[in-house]
Amino acid sequence: MGLNDKGAPGKNIGILWFTDGSKTNNGVGWGYHIVCENDSDPLQGHGKLGDDNSVFQAEVFAITNAARSLLASSTEAHKIIDFYIDSQAAIKAIGKISSISKVVEECINTLNSLGVNNMVMLHWIKAHVGHDLNEKVDALAKLGSTEGPYKQLPRPTTVHAIAFRDILMDKWQELWMKPDKTFNKLPFRQTRLWFENVDNKYSKDFLKLDRSILSKLIQAISGHSYLNYHQYKIGRTSTELCRFCKAANEESHHIVAVCPALSSQRQRALHTTGFDIPMDLPSLLRFLREPTIGRLFSSEGVEQTDHVSDSFQNF
Ligand SMILES: [Zn+2]
Repeated sequence: MGLNDKGAPGKNIGILWFTDGSKTNNGVGWGYHIVCENDSDPLQGHGKLGDDNSVFQAEVFAITNAARSLLASSTEAHKIIDFYIDSQAAIKAIGKISSISKVVEECINTLNSLGVNNMVMLHWIKAHVGHDLNEKVDALAKLGSTEGPYKQLPRPTTVHAIAFRDILMDKWQELWMKPDKTFNKLPFRQTRLWFENVDNKYSKDFLKLDRSILSKLIQAISGHSYLNYHQYKIGRTSTELCRFCKAANEESHHIVAVCPALSSQRQRALHTTGFDIPMDLPSLLRFLREPTIGRLFSSEGVEQTDHVSDSFQNF
């Protein structure tokens, strides 16, 4: 390489490093290409990572390997070493003093070793804009996804997080399908009309809502609301029938999807006179904002009655 005889200590000798990580249909790969000033022989390398390793890990691992290769070469000190990296995330991660990621921590330590007697500079370079050396290293990383030394790095945190989420979802579904021991049937009958299975997407959307809106939405779905069916069960109304059509129990499903007396509200908010549930959330929220419907899910919607069932005399 002749890196050590290009000038006296203190005299800058430029070394340009290009590194990249890539994910293709064949896997995850890394690559580096090092150009030394006045030297016609570049250093380069590539390799393959585990299928569950990330492109970010490949980017960082490429930098680590590039630094190792120069440390292992006959380079001397007092050089300016310019890294060109097209991953801002990688630059940010290795720019810190330490990291909880072993892959990043190893990279930081290797760069620190290189920086003891050299000046190491990290630069971001925009990807895929036709820079020759960056295109070259991109090709090396893609080659690395198909061949080259194989290394399985620790799974990235996101992989652990996804696995943990999957376990939780399975457990949640298992609980959802577990019959009530006392009654030997599935609990939450009304909610089950909306959700046959657990649905993480709906949960996330729900949790983004304002608390007061979320409260009405949960009432509408669970049936634990001011509607007559529930209020009759707890002794607060004299009838469980729908106050509009008197033809069926006043439950959420009936109000939202069935009651013929509310077809105009349904038409206005949902653009249909009847539909299956679950429906999309914005439509349901629009329906709940209809004045007639909104009242049903607030205390002012409780039908006044003199009837109080015996078991709830002191409720
Ligand atoms: Zn009705």
